Amino acid sequence: TAPARTAIIAGNWKMHYGPRMASSFALEITPALGKLLNEYPYLLCILCPPAISLSAVREVLDALLFERIELGAQNMHFEEKGAFTGEISPLMVRELCTTVILGHSERRAYFGESDELVNRKAQAALSHGLRPIVCVGERLEEHEAGKTEAVIRSQVQKSLANFRSERACDVVIAYEPVWAIGTGKACPGEDAQRTIHLIRELYADMYGGETANAVRILYGGSVTSANIAEYVTQADIDGALVGGASLKSDFVEIVRKSI
Ligand code: PGA
Repeated sequence: TAPARTAIIAGNWKMHYGPRMASSFALEITPALGKLLNEYPYLLCILCPPAISLSAVREVLDALLFERIELGAQNMHFEEKGAFTGEISPLMVRELCTTVILGHSERRAYFGESDELVNRKAQAALSHGLRPIVCVGERLEEHEAGKTEAVIRSQVQKSLANFRSERACDVVIAYEPVWAIGTGKACPGEDAQRTIHLIRELYADMYGGETANAVRILYGGSVTSANIAEYVTQADIDGALVGGASLKSDFVEIVRKSI
């Protein structure tokens, strides 16, 4: 039977794999991924290589004709074009991708991205027909101080504000506690479920129950094939945003175990 929401497993390659490596890694994993997805229609897989490698991976996907393996960028500017050295625009991303990750904690921490900027980028993504994966998550000191709920509430209310109501269900939200990213200290499934349920409630306050029911919310932070089942079996968790493990064939196992 069809689940309420089509799940998403996205691979965030971060700053790994230039065009040559990206192409050969995509060639290595996509046949197995494509086969799994052909057998199970309720899961979408999104590969997010560095911007410079998007074309190389696009070529691999086009040659193999796998529809439910999509491509995403890891960031973009909100303007369509202009004097913004080093940036890529929604129009450019749209030529190759369906999706763009926005507000990843590394962008927030190292590149000073605020909730307001992330929101502006998310609105630009939606108005260009791109699916934004908007990341939120508390830092270690906030977690330890018991501030998780307050931090998430504030990030959700600001980063996800003012979407046109008919577009609000096209957003994907990723809950990524910063202390769980790249540390091997994954957030326990039940704790992730509790916070993600809170995010869904906050989204309902902003856009209504129907939209909140339709919106996909992912967990991210040290996901591997050994713990993915802990997340995808939770009522409110619709998949995962995978970093380190998306650079290896373990990614295929993660997808297999999400089915
Ligand atoms: P990780 O990264 O899976 O390596 O912890 C997740 C992310 O940053 O999206």
